[in-house]
Formats: sequence, C-alpha cells, structure tokens
Amino acid sequence: MPYIYRCKKCGAIYYSATSIEYQLNKYCEKCGGELEQLGEEGEVMEKEEEKKSEKKKKE
Ligand SMILES: [Zn+2]
Repeated sequence: MPYIYRCKKCGAIYYSATSIEYQLNKYCEKCGGELEQLGEEGEVMEKEEEKKSEKKKKE
C-alpha cells in the first residue's frame, strides 16, 4: 500500500512507497510547500475524520 502525502500549501496529492521518515523530498514539486503524510491508502478518510473531531474538541 502506498503512503499518501498532501501539500499543506496547494493541496497536491503524492503517493510514495516509503514513509515520510525516509522520504528524501518532503516538499511539493509544484509550489515547494511542506508535505504532510495522510497515512496509507484507505486510512485517509478515517484520519480526516479524526482531525475533524479533534478540532471540535479543542474549539
Ligand atoms: Zn504544493
């Protein structure tokens, strides 16, 4: 399963076989923005939901 990264700046999605710890290029090829790891394919929706509920708790 590939890891999925998303650019924090422009929202571009990248797939990689390696975890972000071993990823050489941690920046977006398009805009140079920082990439964040979304998790493995299939986990993405869950993680997005987690983020939303975390935000709600804080606010
Ligand atoms: Zn970008």
